[in-house]
Amino acid sequence: MLDIIPIHAFQDNYIWTLHNRQHAAVVDPGDAAPVRAHLDAHRLKLAAILCTHHHGDHVGGVRELAQVYNVPVYGPQLENISCVSHPVAEGDVIAIAELNIRLDVLDIPGHTRGHVAYLGMGAVFCGDTLFGCGCGRLFEGTMAQLHHSLQRLASLPDDTRVYCAHEYTEANIRFALACEPGNAQLKKRQAEARTLRAAGLPTLPSSIALEKATNPFLRCTEQEVIQNAGREAGLELASGNEMTVFTALREWRNRFS
Ligand code: ZN
Ligand code: FE
Repeated sequence: MLDIIPIHAFQDNYIWTLHNRQHAAVVDPGDAAPVRAHLDAHRLKLAAILCTHHHGDHVGGVRELAQVYNVPVYGPQLENISCVSHPVAEGDVIAIAELNIRLDVLDIPGHTRGHVAYLGMGAVFCGDTLFGCGCGRLFEGTMAQLHHSLQRLASLPDDTRVYCAHEYTEANIRFALACEPGNAQLKKRQAEARTLRAAGLPTLPSSIALEKATNPFLRCTEQEVIQNAGREAGLELASGNEMTVFTALREWRNRFS
């Protein structure tokens, strides 16, 4: 039986850890120390390291972990991450024999140029592209790439569990409510997130169904979202121009606090 648990790092990073009580794989180990402490405490043997993109809070611990445990390091082919032994891209399948799992690689550029996701066992590890009720900032890719990547994730089966790399859900919900104050599921999600955070628990994983129902960046064709994004952008937005709505939302989010 495979478990997926978060190891906390920095302020709000999650290093998702897949384990079967004997072996483990970690996604985006930005810091080696909490990973080593967890593996030691639970007597787990590291079998693989997976990276979604090159940012320091996702790869900062890779060198040390790769040296200590001598395991394969998977990471996006398009990005320059030192220590990656297995560069991957869309269409590749990663087999981790120790955990008896296979993961598909998806290209989801936008936040960074080569950002990838790992998909398998009904779970997707999407790094900084899709967040609980939000999405990552556009750093290197184009708005169209980010939009397309999010649409790609939204097209996964509804019950796919979404493992994002940061706990940003509550702040994202505040923005989502500004976009769509009339969304009842969003209000419900806010209440649930508050309860979880008050108990010190992650709001993740979420699901593709929940994101489609509450995440404004996946709801660019909703009238209320279009109207509010338009008002903020000072534009008359028409439904049917999804990219314009998406761009207005992403820019509004950058100013929103
Ligand atoms: Zn990042
Ligand atoms: Fe990050």
